[in-house]
Amino acid sequence: MREVDFSACRVAYFSMEIGIDPALPTYSGGLGVLAGDTLRSAADLDVPIIGVTLLYKKGYFTQRIDEQGMQHEAPVVWNPEEHLTRLPNTVTVHIAGQEVRVGAWLSVVEGIQGTRNPIIFLDTDLDENEAAWRHITHELYGHDDRYRLSQEIVLGIGGVRMLESLGCTGIQKYHMNEGHSALLTLELFKRSEAADRLHDVRARCVFTTHTPVPAGHDQFDKKLAEELLGAFITPELHDVVFIEGRLNMTCLGLQFSEFINGVAKKHGEVSRSMFPGYHIESITNGVHARFWASPEMQKLFDEYLPGWQADPFSLRYILSIPKERIWDAHQEAKRRLVAFAKTRGATLREDVFTIGFARRFATYKRGDILFQDPARLRRIAERTRGLQLVFAGKAHPKDLEGKRIIQRVIGQLRALSDVMQVCFLEDYNMGVAQILIPGVDLWLNTPARPHEASGTSGMKAAVNGVPQFSTLDGWWLEGHIEHVTGWSIGNEDVSRESNHEEDVEDLYNKLEYIILPKYYDDRAGWIDVMRHAIAINGSFFNTHRMVQQYVLNAYYL
Ligand SMILES: *Cc1c(COP(=O)(O)O)cnc(C)c1O
Repeated sequence: MREVDFSACRVAYFSMEIGIDPALPTYSGGLGVLAGDTLRSAADLDVPIIGVTLLYKKGYFTQRIDEQGMQHEAPVVWNPEEHLTRLPNTVTVHIAGQEVRVGAWLSVVEGIQGTRNPIIFLDTDLDENEAAWRHITHELYGHDDRYRLSQEIVLGIGGVRMLESLGCTGIQKYHMNEGHSALLTLELFKRSEAADRLHDVRARCVFTTHTPVPAGHDQFDKKLAEELLGAFITPELHDVVFIEGRLNMTCLGLQFSEFINGVAKKHGEVSRSMFPGYHIESITNGVHARFWASPEMQKLFDEYLPGWQADPFSLRYILSIPKERIWDAHQEAKRRLVAFAKTRGATLREDVFTIGFARRFATYKRGDILFQDPARLRRIAERTRGLQLVFAGKAHPKDLEGKRIIQRVIGQLRALSDVMQVCFLEDYNMGVAQILIPGVDLWLNTPARPHEASGTSGMKAAVNGVPQFSTLDGWWLEGHIEHVTGWSIGNEDVSRESNHEEDVEDLYNKLEYIILPKYYDDRAGWIDVMRHAIAINGSFFNTHRMVQQYVLNAYYL
């Protein structure tokens, strides 16, 4: 095995979660999957980048649903030694005045042309640490603010120190994927030998914000921050760190970053109004096309569009592929989903129109909106040639409302099972997503506007020729062309917030009168939508395009 060359790394990409491999449960949802796709594309494009995150030994949980539809969480049993290499390096951070040693594990992302980029997983579960500190890196988004801030000290401050220990002498840019790692700016500030240290740090930092609602931004009580960070916050840093009596990680990251961006055009606009005074650009998210295309679609692309893996822009030429070949590849992916569901005890049919919905059950995503009027949904299924529903997703362990939504969804699915095939796939993760998304006929997405910064699962659907049916928010404002790449839900006046009743009405109407008839009665027209989803959206909403934008506009490599 060839070594990785730490000294060649020029960008350090910090993220609280990175989903690089379905076998590594070190992510919870879209943020981590985006980080993984970003690092995969960077390796393909020979961009010398190193990922920095935490090792979550207990993983982001295993989900089980009981008879009552309640979610239960258990730690994921996984052995880092099977997947990662432990490095000999350790560094020290101070938390609440005590020394905490931080170790590191290595994963290597291999690009399509052989580039080998490292990802570092920081770990405090070392013999030399006291028990209280050993568990800091065990759980993703677990426990309280004290636990979270301790983790962010390890990630931001420990991360910069670890890069130094590893010999990463060539880092020109520090990219913060959301605010969790923003303490790295203070570590860089202290180390700077420039006359204008603020300017020096700003020239090296890039900040990507992912949250369009103020409450979503990570912040800590000043007292807690002073207790845990102690002397690290020197008097000269005090006014920079504490704004309105709190340590707000987003504000900290913004102040020290020359390049700041939102993750879709609309999200850039929303962020500019949330944070006046900052120059905020937008770089719309993407997905890694090769990773998310089903094996069946990959085979088809290989045959007709050689080179598409290195150059996913060439997916635009899908329009020249015979329609029946696209249909056949999709049906094969669907059969794989049917077989997978069977292993989970559910019976699905390959000739029945199938709607898929899967993501974190955060309240704003309205996972139960399809069941607002169950009688209407039942009528639609009875009047057409059939409807099939596949749902999946976890609620955060502390999100009681999210858990109630799962419970409602399960209850409704059961109640409808006499008129349609239904299934809730437990334990949604990247591996399940790779089977589920390509295997359904329509991808449903229902965030309440303006809460979705971007969303990415609809992009995974697009690469597979699965049209999206979604409220106009996040990336869908850019990817939606009605009847061409999919369909919108609700009012098209995007300056307004979502109106729940309007959305529900539109959802049922379009499903009954436009989408289902097109699928069953105009198959050629349906396949036309499928291939436009690939040609227009798959070719553009990928991380190859996104990483190139970061390189040109933010990294200046
Ligand atoms: C892509 C993905 C997500 C993100 O889904 P959204 O559509 O952005 O809500 C979440 N979880 C997993 C496992 C994914 O693969």
